[in-house]
Amino acid sequence: MVTLTDTPMTPTAANKTKTQHSVRPPANAPFPFLDLKAQFAAIREEVMDAIRRVMDSQQFILGPEVKQLEEEIAGKLGAKYAVGCASGTDALILALMAAGIGPGDEVITTPFSFVATAGAIAQVGAKPVFVDIDPVSFNLDAARVEAAITPRTRAILPVHLFGLPADMDPILAAAHARNLLVIEDAAQAIGARYKGQFVGTLGDMGCFSFFPSKNLGAAGDGGLITTNDSATAERLRMIRVHGSKTKYVHEIQGINSRLDALQAAILRVKLRYLDQWTSGRAGRVQRYRSLFDENRLTEFVSYPPVPPADSHHVYNQFTIRAPRRDELKEHLAQAGVPSEIYYPLCLHLQKAFSSYGYHPGQMPFAEKASQEVLSLPVYPELTDAQQEAVVQGIESFYRTKK
Ligand SMILES: *Cc1c(COP(=O)(O)O)cnc(C)c1O
Repeated sequence: MVTLTDTPMTPTAANKTKTQHSVRPPANAPFPFLDLKAQFAAIREEVMDAIRRVMDSQQFILGPEVKQLEEEIAGKLGAKYAVGCASGTDALILALMAAGIGPGDEVITTPFSFVATAGAIAQVGAKPVFVDIDPVSFNLDAARVEAAITPRTRAILPVHLFGLPADMDPILAAAHARNLLVIEDAAQAIGARYKGQFVGTLGDMGCFSFFPSKNLGAAGDGGLITTNDSATAERLRMIRVHGSKTKYVHEIQGINSRLDALQAAILRVKLRYLDQWTSGRAGRVQRYRSLFDENRLTEFVSYPPVPPADSHHVYNQFTIRAPRRDELKEHLAQAGVPSEIYYPLCLHLQKAFSSYGYHPGQMPFAEKASQEVLSLPVYPELTDAQQEAVVQGIESFYRTKK
């Protein structure tokens, strides 16, 4: 993930931020991989009002702000229910717990994702069963899912990686044929649509993260689960408060995983800008595509193909494939151009999951991706000059460093 350094916002630092953003930085000035300060500057007063409102109420855990955020997100995505929780990781854990998945169970997922996807499965005591990715979309290859189903399989857990919907129809068909649940990891994809329907509402449950670097980011950790099933929603609401409906009466086993009112109030402000920010990201992507084409960069690197017409991508990341990727990243860094590798090591090869017995070579497409991918800065506040600096950095690397 992006490293979010904790720079305290002293009054002086805040003032500096303001003046900095009224001046356009020169093309060669270093800039951040994600500019959350610029985003905050644009909505500062509304966010501060929301924080003040919660402080005045002195109600910090769940409460009306969380309830309203849940309703607003459910309404926006067209889900019947939304349940806030402490993080995207917890959203996955709560969903698996609500489904009664545990020791002895298998859950089919992708080896090319953030660690939490498989970590949540392991955390409830189930076994992550990895299925290789489609090399074009970077998402779980739906055609390979069927062969991975065993009598122990309970669920399929696709990830809408980088903001692009996974190919849900064949995944849902495979699940329905075998009575399996589908839990969507939509942590990177809030607002993305598959055949007109919002991701997170296609399967039985959808899991979202409000980690600061996600498209809808809180001022700390936060997460949410969507579902259309009232019994599931009720279980989720109980599990997040130690398995109780009535205080000190515990019908099922739960954990402590709640969304803070402060986070909910801030998220409610940011939710109103989400569509605008998503369009901003798409605009930046379009510009990358034309700059790549103009400069014939496709001789060297490949950028993600335009998604299918019925698939709406929200570009949490713009991820290219680049030969000599690590050298390129270093060259860009020297030129003040930030980039990140999501993800350098596949989940099936992580030491933490070594007990599942996977070895290199089993997931060739995911393994190749982990060696070639490079995510470039993509956010609404990214300037034309900054994008040109990215493209120039890539071009100078391949044209001069043979
Ligand atoms: C961010 C992320 C998570 C975990 O979310 P947190 O809020 O950081 O716990 C899970 N899955 C994916 C794909 C993510 O990108």
